[in-house]
Amino acid sequence: MKPANLRRAAAVAVLLAALTAAAFSLRSRTGVARPRRFDKNVTAMGTFVTVSVFTDDQAAAEEAVDAAIDTIKRLERLLSRFNPESDVSRVNDAAAGEPVSVQRETLEVLDLARLVSRQSGGAFDVTVGPLVVLWREAGESGTLPTPEAIAAARSKVSWKDVLIDAEAGTVTRAREGISIDLSAIAKGYVAAAALGDLRAAGMESGFVNAGGDIAFLSVNPDGSPWRVGVADPRDDTRTLRVLHVRDAAVVTSGDYEQFSTIDGKRYSHIIDPRTGNALEGGGPVSVTVVSQSAALADAWATALSVLGEDGLGAAREAGVECLLLYLDGEEIRTVESPGFADLTPPLGQRTTHRGE
Ligand code: FAD
Ligand code: MG
Repeated sequence: MKPANLRRAAAVAVLLAALTAAAFSLRSRTGVARPRRFDKNVTAMGTFVTVSVFTDDQAAAEEAVDAAIDTIKRLERLLSRFNPESDVSRVNDAAAGEPVSVQRETLEVLDLARLVSRQSGGAFDVTVGPLVVLWREAGESGTLPTPEAIAAARSKVSWKDVLIDAEAGTVTRAREGISIDLSAIAKGYVAAAALGDLRAAGMESGFVNAGGDIAFLSVNPDGSPWRVGVADPRDDTRTLRVLHVRDAAVVTSGDYEQFSTIDGKRYSHIIDPRTGNALEGGGPVSVTVVSQSAALADAWATALSVLGEDGLGAAREAGVECLLLYLDGEEIRTVESPGFADLTPPLGQRTTHRGE
């Protein structure tokens, strides 16, 4: 497991603890009894996943949370490129042109990925694997890849070459070299699926936090919106903005917590598939996306890390709200989608509206 992911999960837990403390102080003010919080944590998808519900029925809570965790484990087995028996690995290992039968959920994630690839002009691309490997090896050796090596890897990156046949329930790689890596979308998809189990079990309030990709069920038990802090990229113990959300997902990405250093320069684990280069600064240091679909929020957080503020128009068309944080020296510059203001009261940062 990557320590970077564990660090990030811990940072998010602090924000949720603060949120719960605020909720408890509200109870003591009003004297109104509120349902108990019931949590379970698992390690999945290379990170910590927390499933939380608020209810007084302990047995029902336990059943709901266990069902959600079963779903997380089952979908991890299907969608992980680290598992040689997953749907993803079976597609990657099959000969080009050979249709591979996969589960409904795998088709669904690939379909959403395809949509985001199209809407983001290829900034999001689940076939980016060969470039991820190239840049990871570059980070390990401390030597930048040659332009020829980047071009060779890039020639194997093409989301249009993953063919989905929803009716037949199959996925086909159109040519050799193409492979699938769902790292940038599946955590959100899995969080949403687990939340679906909580809802189906009759839970009225709760959330699933998959390493910082958080899907919320309804609202807080007291009827107030969920409050989610966006950390200050210069000091993650400080909260820069507080979002108020209902029945939505919040995902933060592109925070450069996973990076390599080559010749003294930091390179992100996020790649621009259009150029073949790893992100290396100049773009947003943090991207937060809010959407009713956790999978779309996850994918767009990655896409907007690549596109920066140029992607705001596309994000608006896709129906997601976003907040991009840039560092100008020690100053933070924020850029947000027009609807983002409805989610969070501004705290006086310099803000530009784009994509209107
Ligand atoms: P995101 O921005 O959401 O995703 C970045 C990742 O997506 C990159 O690491 C790269 O793999 C890929 N990517 C880079 N650029 C792009 C792009 N432009 N478009 C699309 N994709 C891109 N980690 C482990 O260490 N061990 C495991 O066993 C493991 N199993 C996993 C199983 C599943 C089902 C999933 C979803 C993840 C798993 N992971 C595991 C974690 C995974 O390797 C990534 O570290 C993690 O998903 C990155 O998420 P993020 O939110 O940090 O960044
Ligand atoms: Mg993502």
